[in-house]
Amino acid sequence: MTKLEPLNSAAAAFLSRVEHGLLIDGRETPALSGQSIDSFDPSTGQVLTRLAAGGPEDVDRAVAAARAAFEGSWSRWTPYQRQLLLIRAHDHLSAHYEELAQIESADMGAPISRTRAMKNAVLQMILFFASQAVNVTGETMQNSLAGNVTTLTLKSPVGVVGGIIPWNGPLISQWWILGAALAAGCTVVMKPAEDASLSVLRVVQMLHEIGLPDGVVNVVTGTGAVAGARLAAHPDVDRVAFTGSTATGRRIIEASAVNMKRLQLELGGKSPDIILADADLDKAVPGAAMGVFTNSGQVCFAGSRVFVHRSIVQEVTERLAAHAAGIAVGHAFDSTSQLGPLVSRAQLERVMHYIGIAPAEGAQLAGGGNRPEGSPAGGYYVRPTVFGNVHNDMTIAREEIFGPVISVIPFDTVEEAIQLGNRTEYGLGGAVWSRNIDSALQVVKSIRTGTMWVNCYGLIDPMVGFGGVKNSGYGIKGSRAHVEAYLATKSVYISS
Ligand code: ADP
Repeated sequence: MTKLEPLNSAAAAFLSRVEHGLLIDGRETPALSGQSIDSFDPSTGQVLTRLAAGGPEDVDRAVAAARAAFEGSWSRWTPYQRQLLLIRAHDHLSAHYEELAQIESADMGAPISRTRAMKNAVLQMILFFASQAVNVTGETMQNSLAGNVTTLTLKSPVGVVGGIIPWNGPLISQWWILGAALAAGCTVVMKPAEDASLSVLRVVQMLHEIGLPDGVVNVVTGTGAVAGARLAAHPDVDRVAFTGSTATGRRIIEASAVNMKRLQLELGGKSPDIILADADLDKAVPGAAMGVFTNSGQVCFAGSRVFVHRSIVQEVTERLAAHAAGIAVGHAFDSTSQLGPLVSRAQLERVMHYIGIAPAEGAQLAGGGNRPEGSPAGGYYVRPTVFGNVHNDMTIAREEIFGPVISVIPFDTVEEAIQLGNRTEYGLGGAVWSRNIDSALQVVKSIRTGTMWVNCYGLIDPMVGFGGVKNSGYGIKGSRAHVEAYLATKSVYISS
């Protein structure tokens, strides 16, 4: 029997609660309907706790609280005050990070080694947004108007932001929204995913512990079809930041029409990871493997289509399979686990469905494809899986699996790799592995995607940002442009 790491006292206290309410206007409150939904521990399949099932009327009161805060005292907070709040958030989360890592691992199943390793990424993102709070600038422009007219632009926060996020890493993904909103002076209603809401609830509690005014950030847990849909369609929400599936993204776009909401959408992906004949395979193989397997493949920009030059495709497929076989899959609180379970039974069934249909379409299973032996009964585990001899038109190469499944697709020329890489509805990430800078740049420039990596995969710095094109959505995350999108611009003409 594997020895599991014990919870620290703070995480144990939070996780032992049988039910968690909504956070509205600085207070915890049950859903008005009194209903709740089960939240499961992916490592065991047991019920972890219950979450209030927010209904439309709960979203309405959360939006009302966010509107009141936006127009109330929060609107008089100076940029330096908002920056200081974010710096305090950085310090408080840093001091209590172990508690958050444990809550996240228990809730969505990522191994504790991974959630611990995310510490710097979470804290640096908060620091980035803290810097942006004091970096909001309009412009003065010359003009050709008659008379003595001065022209300039003013920036102001867009208002109430609805944040709808998925379950694959809420501890970090909530900060793309909270950080930008707090830096810009907006207020927020968060709707975390029903499978992983706990780190959002705990982070927002922590923000109140360091002086966040009531109503500035509210959390409505519940289902996407009810709470998410109401938030996306709410006439008093000015902006929605959404990360999730392309299908839901379409619904969010439709719902936004009611009041012309501004949107930021990070949707699905089927990113190409291209290994050229001259690549350093000692880097490319583990890089491409972990470009898919990281977080058990539950990453929007996973490089799940690995294109390999035909001259090395057999060697690379075997080495990817060997890499996959060496990965320890297990309970989130087993410190030796490199990958944890998938987030839910539904996700496990979805991944096993794709693994099941691939051979019938001609893909060859090179490694994995099964449940790991000896993993806790009831947990949602699957071994990292490699399929060779995949064709770009097969189902596993077209549809987003969101699991640890690599499709190896051979190619003969760089031009063909580019053409195949672009043959997808998505455009989120992508990479090229090569020792030749000219070939690498050719690929970088030709792949239609929001982000490209060269001889690495998945690096992200909020200062630089990343985004998507095509059906992967729009609106960059990170960089100055991100905060700019939380600001409205007013043109001012002054005649004197
Ligand atoms: P995933 O496949 O990653 O779960 P979803 O798009 O289903 O992606 O879910 C992402 C987030 O969107 C979750 O918080 C979910 O509850 C929410 N959601 C799902 N359906 C809707 C909807 N119709 N309107 C708004 N939010 C939704």
